[in-house]
Amino acid sequence: MKLVFATNNQNKVNEIKSLLGEGVEILSLKDIGCNEELPETQETLEGNALQKARYVADNYHVNCFADDTGLEVASLNGAPGVYSARYAGEQCDAEDNMTKILSELDGKQNRESKFRTIVALILNDEEHFFEGRIEGSITHSKSGSDGFGYDPIFQPNGFDITFSEMSMAEKNAISHRGKAAAKLIAFLKEEFPRF
Ligand code: IMP
Repeated sequence: MKLVFATNNQNKVNEIKSLLGEGVEILSLKDIGCNEELPETQETLEGNALQKARYVADNYHVNCFADDTGLEVASLNGAPGVYSARYAGEQCDAEDNMTKILSELDGKQNRESKFRTIVALILNDEEHFFEGRIEGSITHSKSGSDGFGYDPIFQPNGFDITFSEMSMAEKNAISHRGKAAAKLIAFLKEEFPRF
């Protein structure tokens, strides 16, 4: 069984490959000759994940899944959410995004936040969704040098270090993406017991 992971992030493809058995062959967008930018114009994580998976499934006639992730900060009414990648503007980077959140939370008591990942799978034209989430809080300053995105300011509940101060294995074991991937893999193993 071949399954396309609709992402241009080779790290994500390698990660999921390492978790799956022989029964499913994971292909990247590059592997199927898809070089175009995937549409991602919806206002929810579910909408965006499905839009990307649907685009590839329809245009390349393959079974496919895609993911979308957002950081949701309670006292910012769930922002940046679906806009996490470009919260501080189109030309901004992760540093700018974190600086913006820290300044918006300045003086606010409630620093609760969570990461949420949605995986949308299109298998034989049927849609399936898998969600992974991790609750935590936004720290008062950036801490740590590993990881990416908002890792230096996100401290998962039950830990006194940020995602950025964890090893990749430690983070993957509890992360939003790790949990969504685990649900996807459990589903595939049930559908394709030869895994
Ligand atoms: P994507 O949907 O995986 O591309 O994630 C969208 C944005 O959310 C990224 O550009 C990052 O800013 C942020 N993000 C996603 N996952 C993580 C994570 O594990 N740690 C920190 N930031 C993340």
